[in-house]
Amino acid sequence: MARNKSQSLGAALVLFFSVALVIVVTWFSPSLSATSTNMLFRLRGAFSAPTDVVIVAIDDQSLQRIGQWPWPRSVMASALDKITEARPRGVGLDVIYAEPSSTDEDRRLAAAIARNGRVVLPAQLYESDLKADSAVRATAWLRPLPEFANAASRLGHAHVLPEVDGMAQSIQLSKCDDRASRLWAFGLEVVRTAEQIPAEDVEELPGLLRIGPHRIPVRDEASGSTISGVAIIRPNEMMINYAGPAGSFRSFSIADVIDGKVPGAAFTDKIVLIGAVAESMGDTRVAPFMHYIADAGAGGREMPGIEIHANIINSLRNRLSFRKPPEWAAFLAALAVILLSTLTIRGFDGWRQILILGLILLSIVFGSLFAFSRFLIIPPLPAMLTGLVAVIPLLLNRSLSASRELDLKLAALVSSQKGFLPADNPVGADYINNRLALGLPQSLAWKLRAVDDLTTRLLTRMSFIDRILTSMDEGVLVTDLDGRIVFVNREATRIFGCGENELVGANFSDFLIESGALDPFQLRKAIKGMADGRSAQFEFEIQGAEQRFYSLLLSALTPEAQVSPLDNNVIGVVALVADITKRVELDRMKTETLQLVSHELRTPLTSIRGLSDVLIKFPVTEDESNEMLRTIRSESVRLSEMINRYLDLTRLESGAQPLHLTMVSCQELIAGCIRHLSIFAAERKIGLSSQVTPPVPILQADAQLLTQAVNNLLSNAIKYSPPESEIVVAAALDHGNVMLSVRDRGFGIPEDARERIFEKFYRLERDTTSSSVGAGLGLPLVKEIVERHGGQVTVESVPATGSTFTIHLPLRQQAISMAMR
Ligand code: ADP
Repeated sequence: MARNKSQSLGAALVLFFSVALVIVVTWFSPSLSATSTNMLFRLRGAFSAPTDVVIVAIDDQSLQRIGQWPWPRSVMASALDKITEARPRGVGLDVIYAEPSSTDEDRRLAAAIARNGRVVLPAQLYESDLKADSAVRATAWLRPLPEFANAASRLGHAHVLPEVDGMAQSIQLSKCDDRASRLWAFGLEVVRTAEQIPAEDVEELPGLLRIGPHRIPVRDEASGSTISGVAIIRPNEMMINYAGPAGSFRSFSIADVIDGKVPGAAFTDKIVLIGAVAESMGDTRVAPFMHYIADAGAGGREMPGIEIHANIINSLRNRLSFRKPPEWAAFLAALAVILLSTLTIRGFDGWRQILILGLILLSIVFGSLFAFSRFLIIPPLPAMLTGLVAVIPLLLNRSLSASRELDLKLAALVSSQKGFLPADNPVGADYINNRLALGLPQSLAWKLRAVDDLTTRLLTRMSFIDRILTSMDEGVLVTDLDGRIVFVNREATRIFGCGENELVGANFSDFLIESGALDPFQLRKAIKGMADGRSAQFEFEIQGAEQRFYSLLLSALTPEAQVSPLDNNVIGVVALVADITKRVELDRMKTETLQLVSHELRTPLTSIRGLSDVLIKFPVTEDESNEMLRTIRSESVRLSEMINRYLDLTRLESGAQPLHLTMVSCQELIAGCIRHLSIFAAERKIGLSSQVTPPVPILQADAQLLTQAVNNLLSNAIKYSPPESEIVVAAALDHGNVMLSVRDRGFGIPEDARERIFEKFYRLERDTTSSSVGAGLGLPLVKEIVERHGGQVTVESVPATGSTFTIHLPLRQQAISMAMR
């Protein structure tokens, strides 16, 4: 905001100064306008001067031939006579004969003027202090002698006033002396004489002077003011349109005319202007085309007064004089330029901005040139150019504010780089920071390079962090203050089995509770505690294809600036989810081993030790000792069996024992088991039979392990059945599954124990007290073997009636499930 404010203030200042500058240029700096008009003349170039205006020049050559000026007036009279013979349309003799010379000479000239009848003579205003009070100066006309004036057709004033830069650009078509004696311009009178326009055929309209057929645009500032009884005499200023540099008009040396070297046809029906051209006579002015041509030729000279009159006559007769728009119009045009260029600078950037500003400049220059040469308008070029140039500081203002913005960005970047990898760039941010801290002026290019450098390192750092997060074995989730998940890494999506899209945006605690992983109360309490910066740890399990355990560590996410988590400025929660399945398994195995050693192994060992003690210490009968030795033997068998089974089971569970898959016929497998246990069954008078429903199921399995599983089920059935009962081992195909079942007519299993019998070391109360040998490891081993084959074990049982244990093995998915293991 503050930046914008200072930027707009700067822009407003620039605009204010540009408008002020334009005002100065428009109203108070005429020299700029004169210079620009000159420039336009030069850009436009010269055009061919009219052939019906001819100059008879009093040039250096004539001065050499006839002698120093002033010449005897008869010389001019003879020149005039020569011209009169050719019958010109009008003659302008630009020499003031105000003083009398010899009577004869004067008479001869007056006669020559009279003979011609169309000669216009000049008069000039001069300041005299002839009045009584000499402090008051009077302006009066310096007129030709009355005899010349009377002979001439008209008198015209020959005043061409230079502009501020000394250049004659305009003429006042009428002038007055103190006594309101008004004379029209010399050139104008020549035109009137040549075209025989009567004195009354002159009309002064606002901004316009009509003389016969000629309508001349003029500047007439006093035209609006009329006071009764007072005649306002207008300045009638006309802008002269120069045909070209000095020497553009056809000109003859007066000496050649006198000598008859110029054919009369040169003057016939033409306007002839006689005047001084020789530089020594001083009647020259600076004209716009001066130095238009680089060498010292025509353009290098000032323009003789007579040629300026020729240009005035040309401007009058051919409607070539310029019009100058009023100052307010010039001001408006400049304002439009300011507006356009300001909009360009504000609205565009880079090369487009430069291009449009360039186009504006070109249209100002070429538009002005077009208006000048085609419509004869003097355009407000200086004001418009000033308008354009004056707003250029806006560009600077913009680049200044861009630079300031860059400074702030740099500072932000530098502070965000704290804690960068030291190996990333040892100097980097510090170097930039130091240079900024020194407050040294930095170039825009340096700042851009610094931003570039810092950004590159920021990106490197980001991709580095991204790599870390992606490569982590732990899942990382970040939530915002509302508990919505805002970030998850790849491992987190894998753990929860959801895509990133599903997780991001979900409510973290709801998600965990819905997935059943955690106790809602505990979790909500923990997340609440986060607000105080307390971290929390949980363990949970996810039941997928296999059971896995995870730890969940929740820590408060604090802003970078915060030093201690107790600052109570929490902006979210970071959750770290680690797979701890292996650790949990190890813990469990440790507990089980402890249980085995402390409880299960102790019992048989105690009895072995006790019996052997009795045998050693006390005399016993042979029968008793046999009995004791049998017990010692059976206990040690039980002990070794228990240890073997436990080791088998542990090996299987840890995955250390791979499956050796072969094609196994269920019929053969069952026959083998029955054979293996037939003696044991016979001892208990239990009948074993097999029942294989065709087609005989053949499956891919580890024959040894599957046999062990069926053996365990069959031996249990024998163990937990009364004598003289029947046990059936069956195999059948059922909906693409192989079913291997062992059905007994034994004691059965109460309902509440049916799940638990598959737990390690679990035995029914009934059997722990009976004589039946067992360690509670048979069924867990069966379960583990079957599950490793991708199947499951079920049990149906009716107490006191019998139990059926069934192994379900999928025929088709077997290979896949096993491969997954
Ligand atoms: P054990 O070595 O004690 O037989 P098991 O894991 O094989 O251990 O069996 C666990 C318990 O399940 C047994 O102690 C027994 O109480 C019960 N049980 C297993 N099979 C049967 C069955 N066929 N009939 C009744 N009870 C059974």
